[in-house]
Amino acid sequence: METRSGKRLIAVYVITALLSLMIIPTMSVSAASGDTIVYLTKTGSCYHASGCSSLRKSQIPTTLSDAVAGGYSPCSKCHPGSLDVAPTNNVQTASAPAPVVQNPTAVNQVKTSGWDCIYNEAYYRASNPDVDKVYPGDSAGIFEHFKTSGMKEGRRGCDEFDVSSYRSKNADLNATFGDDLPKYYYHYMQSGKAEGRSGK
Ligand SMILES: [Zn+2]
Repeated sequence: METRSGKRLIAVYVITALLSLMIIPTMSVSAASGDTIVYLTKTGSCYHASGCSSLRKSQIPTTLSDAVAGGYSPCSKCHPGSLDVAPTNNVQTASAPAPVVQNPTAVNQVKTSGWDCIYNEAYYRASNPDVDKVYPGDSAGIFEHFKTSGMKEGRRGCDEFDVSSYRSKNADLNATFGDDLPKYYYHYMQSGKAEGRSGK
């Protein structure tokens, strides 16, 4: 009995050695090309490199590209490699494009130059906390508010200009503009300041 099982063991070793001689050169030729031979098992969902312990019960040789196309994933124990180039008829392995991350400061960048003598964001926020609350961190939004509502409501946008003072000190403008408050802002910005009129 002992000699018979000994012979059987030797036979297993010889066969294993022969198999690895046949397999190893194939493996080393193309480490991660689609032609690489990998092994599937009857029940598993992974493909394996030769000699993996998961292949004890069954090993079905196939190519790497067929294994990937068949939905098999690389074994985490033997690291059989993955495709370096996706074959044309294969699952798309290219990674998705990186999401576009918008720079919040860029989004909020707003051109207020030219408006400097009637609008300053920090001043407008500080003197109009109700508006500031609606546009936290939104430079474009609060500037838009100033242009579309703030001036109509006579809100002060900077230290340099106060619409009610400007109106009461400039009777000629009051005669022309009346209650149309934005016109006083625009007048100061476009000509009043240059004419030497005081903004407040
Ligand atoms: Zn494996």
